[in-house]
Amino acid sequence: MAEPRADLIEVFSSYQGEGLFLGAKQIFIRFADCNLNCTFCDTPKDAVKKDLSVDEVLEEVMRIEAASGIHHSFSITGGEPLLHADFLEQLLPRLKNERSKIYLETNGTLPEELRRIIAYVDIIAMDIKLPSSTNMRPLWKKHIEFLEIAGKKRVFIKVVVTGDTVKEDILKARDIVESFDKGMLFILQPASPTENGDFTAKREKIFNYYELSGERLKNVRIVPQVHKFLGIK
Ligand code: SF4
Repeated sequence: MAEPRADLIEVFSSYQGEGLFLGAKQIFIRFADCNLNCTFCDTPKDAVKKDLSVDEVLEEVMRIEAASGIHHSFSITGGEPLLHADFLEQLLPRLKNERSKIYLETNGTLPEELRRIIAYVDIIAMDIKLPSSTNMRPLWKKHIEFLEIAGKKRVFIKVVVTGDTVKEDILKARDIVESFDKGMLFILQPASPTENGDFTAKREKIFNYYELSGERLKNVRIVPQVHKFLGIK
């Protein structure tokens, strides 16, 4: 059987700029392509893709480890990495080792693909996409299906707050998370300016959404994208 291949953007060493592992040194394995089209997306659409095999990705990982030492974890990211579930099924068991955890960053809309690889994942950074933030149709049902599977592992939620985000969407996301686990980490991520426009929200709005989320959830944080302050990718 032919070895699976996938389109990747890059494999690189950096520091996590979002979420629970903020500041941790990770090897990022960044896949190309996404099934969504969020208004605030900062992933360059014209990034050059590399068609790589599992062996070639592992060789790149070994080269990075040799050059930059031990990393806290592997970040499987994109785009949307679960579009490459066939590839991940082969890569993740070979990548996983005792030292480094597998951290999956996902838009939380491909539950069947998650089911196929969840055994190899240690922690899931899951987006809940708010229609008023993304300017897309609601994805609540997909997010609920996804959380039913993701909840078998350690999972936390990120919602991006833009100038267009409405209160009703925050309440809906909050209520979904509460229905699973009111102690689950719920991160409000203020949108950063992108090349496509400035979608940033006023501070008062973000603080108000924090209070509303905290009425039902026990673990709410406001965490901006720190890598942008540090000038790293
Ligand atoms: S899910 Fe992420 S990568 Fe995909 S369009 Fe939205 S922000 Fe961009």
